[in-house]
Amino acid sequence: MIDRPLLNRRLDGHGTTIFAEMSALAVRTGAINLGQGFPDTDGPEEVREAAVRALREGRGNQYPPGPGVPELRAAISDHQRRFHGLTFDPDTEVLVTAGATEAIAASLLALLEPGDEVIALEPFYDSYAACIDMAGARRVPLTLRAPHFRPDLDELRDAISPRTRLLLLNSPHNPTGTVLTRAELGEIAGLAVEHNLLVVTDEVYEHLVFDGEHVPLISLPGMRERTVSISSAGKTFSFTGWKVGWVTGSAPLVSAVRTAKQYLTYVSAGPFQYAVAEALALPDAYFTDFREDLRAKRDLLADGLTEAGFEVYRPQGTYFITTDVAPLGEKDGVAFCRALPERCGVVAVPNAVFHYDTPDAGRSQVRFAFCKRVEVLRDAVNRLRALAG
Ligand SMILES: *Cc1c(COP(=O)(O)O)cnc(C)c1O
Repeated sequence: MIDRPLLNRRLDGHGTTIFAEMSALAVRTGAINLGQGFPDTDGPEEVREAAVRALREGRGNQYPPGPGVPELRAAISDHQRRFHGLTFDPDTEVLVTAGATEAIAASLLALLEPGDEVIALEPFYDSYAACIDMAGARRVPLTLRAPHFRPDLDELRDAISPRTRLLLLNSPHNPTGTVLTRAELGEIAGLAVEHNLLVVTDEVYEHLVFDGEHVPLISLPGMRERTVSISSAGKTFSFTGWKVGWVTGSAPLVSAVRTAKQYLTYVSAGPFQYAVAEALALPDAYFTDFREDLRAKRDLLADGLTEAGFEVYRPQGTYFITTDVAPLGEKDGVAFCRALPERCGVVAVPNAVFHYDTPDAGRSQVRFAFCKRVEVLRDAVNRLRALAG
């Protein structure tokens, strides 16, 4: 027997997540799973066919080039120009990764020294905390609070210390649905320049903005040299299982991230890279229709949750709605979510799991995903009506 803890101390507190527990509960009770954020229909048929073609024609079946196949790097560069007016050299300023998840991990492992402080918007996507810890760095939260979930920029200024190395931003923001405004991003950029900080931006919901606009932070003055911009095909094209993501940024930053990335996966998803290259070149109508489809689903679920008695914070973007269960006489989102499948056959996720340093701020909040078929959302809303009594 090995008589010491197997998991190293850096991963303390990063055991299995509540997602596993909730998904198991969904299977056992036959509940509708609005917990995890994956679509229940696949993306465009022509994109699937492109993947099949690549497999059959033997494109990407062996190790693709380390930075990604040239077709995909060119398509990412074209996408950044077409949607954001940004120019990136496909050879030196674009890197393909195993989803945004690897891009985040490689960026943090490449750019952080042990003891560095990282300021991140809390609540946050669970891989951030684990990767900051694996890099030996320290997390400093900038908490987004109900009802508006805007970042307090004075609080950000106060949170910056001589040890602060990096800001980790996510907009559109999972789980609150906040989309940072151009004015907020301008102030954040000003602070980053003033304090000479690096910034990593997670923009996987860039095409799912219902109110406002998505502004890549890297487009603002002074940010090009200090920003690692991350996105992914998973959410935009409804192929979350393909795990094709990317980094765009200045050549020195992309080179640093590539150095870490080459020892994580080296490469991945060969044939899917060719398919995503075609997906990124889909006409504007695809992106507009996708957003409008999700907007209608947001409204359907938001209205249903309001009728069922939740306080609903209508998101400006993403796949998710954050609610508060206090009006239902509940105080604790974790207990509420554990009981919900038995009570009315729906699974949701407590926002508490996205809070690490400020648990009180999310205690009574619960997140629902609306990236599901309309009939599934209608069924869920009917079931949730039981809560209104
Ligand atoms: C889904 C999600 C990711 C993961 O993206 P992959 O491309 O599947 O790795 C990263 N960040 C946020 C905020 C997400 O919601």
